Amino acid sequence: SGMPRFADIKPEHVEPAIRGLIDENRALIERLTADPATPTWDDFVSPMDEAGERLGRAWGVVGHLHSVFDVPAWREAYNAMLPDISRFFAEVGQNLALFEKYKALHDSAEFPTLSPVRQRILEHALRDFRLSGAELPDAQKPRFQEIQEEQSQLAAKFSENLLDATNAHAEWVSDEAGLAGIPEDARAAARAAAEADAKPGWKFTLQMPSYLPVLQYADDRELRARMYRAYATRASELGNPELDNGPLIGRILALRHEEARMLGYRNFAEVSLVPKMADTPEQVLGFLHDLAAKAKPFAEKDLQELQAFAKTELGIDTLEPWDAAYASEKLRQARYAYSDQEVKQYFPEPKVLDGLFGVIRTLYGVDILPDEAPKWDPDVRFFRIEKDGELVGHFYLDLHARSTKRGGAWMDSARSRHRNTWGSDTPVAYLVCNFPGPVAGKPATFTHDDVLTLFHECGHGLHHLLTQVDELAVSGIHGVEWDAVELPSQFMENFCWEWDVLQGMTAHVDTGAPLPRALYDKMIAAKNFQSGMQTVRQLEFSMFDLLLHGEVGAVGNTSGDTGSAPVPIERVMAVLDEVRKEVAVMIPPTWHRFPHSFAHIFAGGYGAGYYSYKWAEVLSADAFEAFEEAGAGRGSLLDPETG
Ligand code: ZN
Repeated sequence: SGMPRFADIKPEHVEPAIRGLIDENRALIERLTADPATPTWDDFVSPMDEAGERLGRAWGVVGHLHSVFDVPAWREAYNAMLPDISRFFAEVGQNLALFEKYKALHDSAEFPTLSPVRQRILEHALRDFRLSGAELPDAQKPRFQEIQEEQSQLAAKFSENLLDATNAHAEWVSDEAGLAGIPEDARAAARAAAEADAKPGWKFTLQMPSYLPVLQYADDRELRARMYRAYATRASELGNPELDNGPLIGRILALRHEEARMLGYRNFAEVSLVPKMADTPEQVLGFLHDLAAKAKPFAEKDLQELQAFAKTELGIDTLEPWDAAYASEKLRQARYAYSDQEVKQYFPEPKVLDGLFGVIRTLYGVDILPDEAPKWDPDVRFFRIEKDGELVGHFYLDLHARSTKRGGAWMDSARSRHRNTWGSDTPVAYLVCNFPGPVAGKPATFTHDDVLTLFHECGHGLHHLLTQVDELAVSGIHGVEWDAVELPSQFMENFCWEWDVLQGMTAHVDTGAPLPRALYDKMIAAKNFQSGMQTVRQLEFSMFDLLLHGEVGAVGNTSGDTGSAPVPIERVMAVLDEVRKEVAVMIPPTWHRFPHSFAHIFAGGYGAGYYSYKWAEVLSADAFEAFEEAGAGRGSLLDPETG
């Protein structure tokens, strides 16, 4: 029940502990489902939650150590138990006897007497069972299972094709003059790639770290054009037919449509939205159209500026798609560039943390105090959050990169708040980043991007830690709609762009001076550079995704509701063309095959969900605007009442 005893937990404990807890959960489920009595919250949900939490917490520690202390013994212990854990959760999700118990409780006389929070938990449980096909007639279940299996195979194949097609192409440069404009590090990598093939010259590939510098910096327009075409036609019928994702796309869409019809929905977009905040595909489309109408004039202005610059400064009369990144980079350098190194001097770690904690204290009326607990590394810090002297929660702060830590930044739950029949706990969070550590007695300094990352993860952390919900399944970050999860995190980022917040959060490492106004103005200008064009691009992807998973999926269905003939790829391309006519400002060439590499929606779980990025961004902007309005009269956005 306390904090994990990181110093005492050994890799060899994992298997017996996790096996024991899985067995305990299985035995409990067996006992509860065999009981003929009508289930009650206290006799059924409470013991289920309690047993699930014991397993979740133990496995959570293993997963956490696998991420932040990835030494061979821990990696092995984690991987050894992963299949058993996955199997157990899959089994629970498909346990129809369990589904019947939840349903019986939902239909019982107790249900209307339960708190709205508990009612919500039961509704979530039933929803998840239903979406896995639990309510289908027995005769349809094998087909539903088949569809699921084929879908995961197709998703895996889609990714493999894309990867193989990405690796299949290379551009060779034999003459050093052909490298003009390309930065030194990208050249060195290209030379090393050629050497690995035992060849002279420079080898550029379609992998992002090799491809992007060519498109951004190479003066050789023909090289850019060749690379662009190769990249844009990956995994399509214009390349190796064995790696063509076109037929897979048609098949995935047809299967998703069939699944949706079996579950009683009109199309897959409706299914995707069931666990999300948005209500209907029409509502999301309305949102996207509205945003597009507002963003497009700005995108057109961005493009005109870029075209004019390319013409007068670069001698490019007609700006082609393979010129866009190149001209943008030149324009950015000419008008908006500032040095990350210069900015970094103003963000020493202690000052940034003081600033962050100060923002949190003012907004939410809580104090953040240093505390003690066992840790996985001496560099980790531990804090407690108090409100009016009362404990609210704890968090670990693991800021600096280590060779044993997975890359990136994230927030995870170590413990979730609950106060119910089987006990009570305050929440605990892990905040993990990969920033550079202190060097030679000087404090670590952060780039502005690092500071944004820190505020972002802290937003997720606050979501988890300041919860007032007493039931585990929906407290903190649990049970939150997928398209709303990024609201608190993106919201917190806004404060890193505020002049008065930055004044209190910056001190030059040598002089102690706060961030100067001139540098701040440049950072703001760079932030907004081409944001119109970036926005319409995101909207194009979002609309395409949503329309594709609407009625388009039915196109291939020749035998009414249950057929699943593939959607012709021409139909898919036609949908994209339509969307581009409405929102895009730069129309790619007709041979461009964007859908064939849109792994987010065909292989990554974002099907009819790509809009979530923009949806959450607008929510966070709306929330932030409440602070702007409240602060308008008082000279500071940090308004405790709104907080
Ligand atoms: Zn996030």
